[in-house]
Amino acid sequence: MATGMSTIDSVRQIGIIGTGDFARALAKRLYFSGYDVIMGSRKPETKMLSAIDECLCNVSLTTTEECVKSVSILFLAVHVENFKDLVHGNEESFDGKILIDVSNRDRPNTVHSNAEYLQTLVPNATIVKAFNVISAYAMENDYNTSSRQVFIASNSGNARSVVSNVAKDMNFRPVDFGGLFAARRIENHPLRLFPDWRGPLGFALAVFNIWLLFLIYIYYISASVYKWEQIFVKVLNKAICMTGITTLAVTYLASSFATIFQIHYGTKHIRFSRWLDKWLKTRKQLGLVSFTLISMHVVMSVLIMSPTYLRSWFHSTAITIPAHLNESFKFDQITWMTWKGEAACLSGILAYIVLCFICASTFPSVTDSLNWREWRFAQSILGHIALCLSVGHVLVMGAPGWLAKPHVLYKSITFLCSIIPWFTLVLKLIFSLPCVDKYVMKIRKGWERNEDSCKAKCMKQTHKGYVEMSTNGTMVEVPSCMEACPCPGDTYPMETLKGRCDCSAPRHV
Ligand code: NAP
Repeated sequence: MATGMSTIDSVRQIGIIGTGDFARALAKRLYFSGYDVIMGSRKPETKMLSAIDECLCNVSLTTTEECVKSVSILFLAVHVENFKDLVHGNEESFDGKILIDVSNRDRPNTVHSNAEYLQTLVPNATIVKAFNVISAYAMENDYNTSSRQVFIASNSGNARSVVSNVAKDMNFRPVDFGGLFAARRIENHPLRLFPDWRGPLGFALAVFNIWLLFLIYIYYISASVYKWEQIFVKVLNKAICMTGITTLAVTYLASSFATIFQIHYGTKHIRFSRWLDKWLKTRKQLGLVSFTLISMHVVMSVLIMSPTYLRSWFHSTAITIPAHLNESFKFDQITWMTWKGEAACLSGILAYIVLCFICASTFPSVTDSLNWREWRFAQSILGHIALCLSVGHVLVMGAPGWLAKPHVLYKSITFLCSIIPWFTLVLKLIFSLPCVDKYVMKIRKGWERNEDSCKAKCMKQTHKGYVEMSTNGTMVEVPSCMEACPCPGDTYPMETLKGRCDCSAPRHV
């Protein structure tokens, strides 16, 4: 292990190996953060750093070997493919040094991280994985980065503290990821492409396609209601608003499903099924997708707000011109909105304003200023109010038609797109009833239905595999059904559990 390691206060001189884009950006940033920087190159005589950037004229440039010798903390700003060349024959010179690996990968790692690989090459150095999530551009040009996170992993707690302090000095926010094993996650981070958005976007796209096909069928195939040129705004606007309200309802439906799950199992200690867990975790993204769609609907509706497009929202004015008229005839045409148009506008505007508040509460700066109760109020209560107002908006537009033609409700787009929102609101209402709410709150505070019924449920589980869990302070493998059935006070003797999925077996020690 490393010897003579730097302490938090002693590091003011830092070395950088490499003179590429990232190394130069790093050198500049470290220099402006008050550090003495020495850069190490294979051919220092050929690199004219100050000619590339005059800010680098105060940075010393030397050979790689000299740089390694001079400092106790080094950034390795070279590609992983060059690690071996770099350390080959000089392994001992890295002994006791803190080596910060900033390298990235082209593909997610499967076996080990670049940092773990580097540790095998220089076993007596202390490897720290950090800064790989910051681009050379941001490092060089963006100084307002106090909210930008730098993930740090190393097997040495002291090395993590040293590098955290360097990151803070550079106006980054260090996040301690623990041991070097975590470098795998850190290296995969820059390779992610909106993983949390795929599900919500895919869902919205699927719903949009379904509604659009349905609209084309009822407006163009089964009857000829609109002209084809109206498809871009008039028809698309309907599909967008139907997708928006469905996605909004689905955002709030997840918590009701979670409540049903907990009531069904009579405990909060059973993990949600994977699909429900994913659904719960992507509620923010679902909400933002629905907000975007609803915003599009607002803009498109304002564009087509006229008696020509929204006939039933305005009073019609009939003008009769006498047949024998032989002189000029002046008439005033005033068309104002019907109660339906006015009520639909009001409910729509209110719903949109509430949605804007909810959306604003998801901005990190606003979220940080809210306490738990305020956050719940914004996300849950205001969310359901927005859904209620949206349903009201649809109801005002659709209900007169539903009453006039109840036999063709299955063709009414306003009726069809309100089914899931209604279902969501009714479930919320049921779970808000004092008797149900009290029961759910009891479960959420840790209460569990009696042990026997828990066992009975556990026996119904299929034998899918094993999970690891802690029993008597040690990790053991237990059948997954056991993990799904935490009967109060149970401890699991390993020999009884291995290979079994039977809660009737003796379980108490
Ligand atoms: P680069 O411009 O290609 O620079 C790589 C440097 O490595 C070269 O300038 C070279 O400096 C040095 N080097 C040492 N041994 C070498 C060898 N055997 N063959 C070739 N070069 C060797 O790369 P970069 O963009 O600065 O990236 C450097 C590291 O930072 C990479 O691991 C990358 O994944 C990571 N990173 C880059 C960024 C970014 O935005 N660029 C962001 C995050 C992380 P000398 O010729 O002076 O020896």
